[in-house]
Amino acid sequence: MNILLLGSGGRESAFAWKISQSPKCDHLFIAPGNAGTSQYGTNVNIKATDFENIGNFAIENSIDLVLVGPEEPLVKGIHDFFLANEGLKDIPVIGPQSEGAQLEGSKDFSKAFMQRHNIPAAASQTFTRETLQEGFEYLATAGLPVVLKADGLAAGKGVLICTTLEEAQLELTEMLTHAKFGDAGSKVLVEQFLQGIELSVFVMTDGENYKVLPEAKDYKRIGEGDTGLNTGGMGSVSPVPFADEAFLKKVEEKVIIPTVEGLRKENIAYKGFIFIGLMNCDGEPYMIEYNCRMGDPETESVMLRIESDFVDLLEGVAEGNLDKKELIISNRTAATVVMVAGGYPGEYLKNKVITGIENVRDSKVFHAGTSMQGDDIITTGGRVLAVSSLQDNLFDALQQATADASRIYWDGMYFRKDIGFDLL
Ligand code: AMP
Repeated sequence: MNILLLGSGGRESAFAWKISQSPKCDHLFIAPGNAGTSQYGTNVNIKATDFENIGNFAIENSIDLVLVGPEEPLVKGIHDFFLANEGLKDIPVIGPQSEGAQLEGSKDFSKAFMQRHNIPAAASQTFTRETLQEGFEYLATAGLPVVLKADGLAAGKGVLICTTLEEAQLELTEMLTHAKFGDAGSKVLVEQFLQGIELSVFVMTDGENYKVLPEAKDYKRIGEGDTGLNTGGMGSVSPVPFADEAFLKKVEEKVIIPTVEGLRKENIAYKGFIFIGLMNCDGEPYMIEYNCRMGDPETESVMLRIESDFVDLLEGVAEGNLDKKELIISNRTAATVVMVAGGYPGEYLKNKVITGIENVRDSKVFHAGTSMQGDDIITTGGRVLAVSSLQDNLFDALQQATADASRIYWDGMYFRKDIGFDLL
């Protein structure tokens, strides 16, 4: 098969690494990719949201399958674009059509979906500029802390946890009347705060059948001890020790099955990944959010634990026979440490030469924000590399990934040295 993978981050590097090992893959193209993905296939200089050029490329290069990494092209309708085009409609796209992508694209849509299918989630109500006053009244009764969420995609920034009523009123006003998060915040959900430990569960579905991929926990804050600003993700581990068999069984029964069934009952075609962001509240799962794609940096840990042929699984999603496919998961532990540019998640340094990758001993180095400049690998993004290690236990995986990250250097680089140590 000729496979086209869309995206340019650490998630796509991990996908590219895994796909390139499959005997079913003849040629892998990554659009646009990064300096690391070119080890596993051919980078193509087309943005993941440039549908016309992606379509032309797919036809010219006899692409048999498209895997969409990030959410933006899905929410904007890349799958619908392929289906609507005579020359493209028979090329399977892994990732939902825009209707299903609303599970991530609109928090109001996803919350209403959870309610319709009795999926446990925090209580919430949605308000607009016209109903601001009612929002104030609801806030007064909601309890503290309280969570405000912009409805639309806000690059991971649209969620605020407010600890006082005054702060919540001010922020709600800013979002609804001063467009604090632009259009994404034209509707705002006011949501009950859930107390517990977070984790993510990943599901692959062909619309009828599903497979539960390894679960993972990610670390969002920039500082050690989970302090400081939120980031795209500073590390991840899989499996998650507190997600025991009994808990995961509850997740499957109370969340996964009603989600896949709910999509089917509502005739929402869905072929792709469902990322289920959960809070474990005293052993009970509560939904925080859906995403319509895999997570980053969770994918880097998850891919290390999948032993079966990933392209065979993708084919199962495309052909609707995922139930006939084999998913073998390693019982070893994967840990990922994300290395970021100095200044990130604020304004950050760029174009720094990366050295020492060849000194890494027992980890995969997945590239995220990198490019080639002559023979040098340089930094081009905030999250630059993801260093992932698979070992017999959590301690060894964490120690190896952290030790290997410290073998790599560039001017201003930073990584957390405490990823996963709270779970030991
Ligand atoms: P989201 O974009 O919905 O994933 O929210 C971003 C982060 O905010 C989550 O990963 C949680 O850490 C936190 N969060 C969101 N909703 C809640 C909630 N209802 N209670 C507690 N924390 C939450």
